[in-house]
Amino acid sequence: MTKFLPFALPEIGEEEIQEVVECLRSGWVTTGPKTKQFEQDFAAYLGDGGEAIAVNSATAGLHLALEALGVGPGDEVIVPTLTFTATAEVARYLGAELVFVDVDPITLNIDVPAVKAAITSKTKVIMPVHYAGLACDMDALLELAHAHGVKVVEDAAHAFPTSYKGRLIGTLDSDITVFSFYANKTMTTGEGGMVVTKDPALAKRMKIMRLHGISKDAFDRFTSKTPSWFYEIVAPGFKYNLTDIASAMGIHQLRKIDRFLVRRQQLAKRYAEELAGLPLILPADAPAGGTHSWHLYVIRLREDVSIGRDAFIQALSDRGIGTSVHYVPLHRQPYWRDTYGLAPEQFPHADAAYRAMLSIPLYTKMSDEDQTRVIQALKELLC
Ligand SMILES: *Cc1c(COP(=O)(O)O)cnc(C)c1O
Repeated sequence: MTKFLPFALPEIGEEEIQEVVECLRSGWVTTGPKTKQFEQDFAAYLGDGGEAIAVNSATAGLHLALEALGVGPGDEVIVPTLTFTATAEVARYLGAELVFVDVDPITLNIDVPAVKAAITSKTKVIMPVHYAGLACDMDALLELAHAHGVKVVEDAAHAFPTSYKGRLIGTLDSDITVFSFYANKTMTTGEGGMVVTKDPALAKRMKIMRLHGISKDAFDRFTSKTPSWFYEIVAPGFKYNLTDIASAMGIHQLRKIDRFLVRRQQLAKRYAEELAGLPLILPADAPAGGTHSWHLYVIRLREDVSIGRDAFIQALSDRGIGTSVHYVPLHRQPYWRDTYGLAPEQFPHADAAYRAMLSIPLYTKMSDEDQTRVIQALKELLC
C-alpha cells in the first residue's frame, strides 16, 4: 500500500532543531533574546520601517489589533464569510458586532462592492483576509476605508510572503497586519504569529497588552534608579507573548521562506498546467506585479461534474490523498448563523464556492512524485 499523502506538512530542518536545543540549554525559554531577534529579522524582511510584534498566535494578534484600535460594544467589524472563525471571534471578545459579507467569485477574496454596501455609521474596522495567499484588492479597500474613516486590519494568516502591486503584504497603508505561524501555514513556529504596524502608538498599546498590561516606561525613563523588580500595570492585559523556543524555530523558518515560496510556486504552476483540461475551476493567480504565497491550492468542481464534492474527497482519501475544505463559511456555522440570523442566500458566491471546493496537497516537503500521484488521481476521477 502507498503511504497516505497529507494535505499539509511543515518543513523543519536541523537549523531549527539546533536553535531550539540551544534555547533549551540556555535556560531562557520564555520571551527573550530569540524573540527580539525574530521580531527584528521579520521587520527587516518586510523592510519598510514597520514594527513587528511577536505573539503566541495570529488569533491573539488579531485580538490585540482590534483592542488597540479601541473596538468595543456598539462597533461593527466587517469580515468575509469565507474565512476561519478566528477572524471574526476576536471582535466578539471585545463585545463588538460582526457584519459578514460575500466574496468575489473568482478570487474568493472579500468583495469590495459588498463591503461598500455593508458600511454604516457604526463600522469601525474592515478585516480583509488574503484568501489562500492571494492579496485582496487593497487599493479599493483602503480608499473605501479612508473615505469613511474606517480602520483596516489585514488578516494575513495566509499571506507570507504575498505581494500586491510590488509591495509585500505587511507594508501597505492599512493600520495593522497579522501573520500566522500555525503548523500548516507557509512558515511555522508550532503556534505563533506576528503583528505588524507602522503606527508607534498602536505598537506601544499592543506590546503592553501582549503582556498583562505591564508598562515598561518607568524602566526606560529611570533605568538606573528603578529596581529590577518594579513594574506598573496600566490595563488588564493578556498573556499573548511568544516563547523563545518558538522564536528559535521562526528565525530559521524565516531564512528559508524565499526557498519555500519558490517551491510552492513550482508546485502551483505544475498543478495549473496539468489540471487545465479537467472540469475544475482552478485558483486565480496574482495579477501582474503581485505574488501569490500559495499557502493553499483550492480547486472547485465544475457544476457538470457528476460526482459530488464530499464523495470526491472520499475517493481521493481512498487513493491515499489528504485534502481539506477552506472553509465551511461562517454563515453556516451554528454560532454565527444563529447569532446573526445568517442564510446561504445572503452569500451566494461564498456558498457556491464552499459546496464545490477542496484544498489539495501543496507544501514544500512534497516531492514531484507525490504531486504526480495527486494529478493522476484527479485525472482518473474526472476524465
Ligand atoms: C490560521 C488562521 C488564523 C489563526 O491563526 P492562529 O495562528 O492559529 O491563531 C486566522 N485567520 C485565518 C484566515 C487563518 O487561516
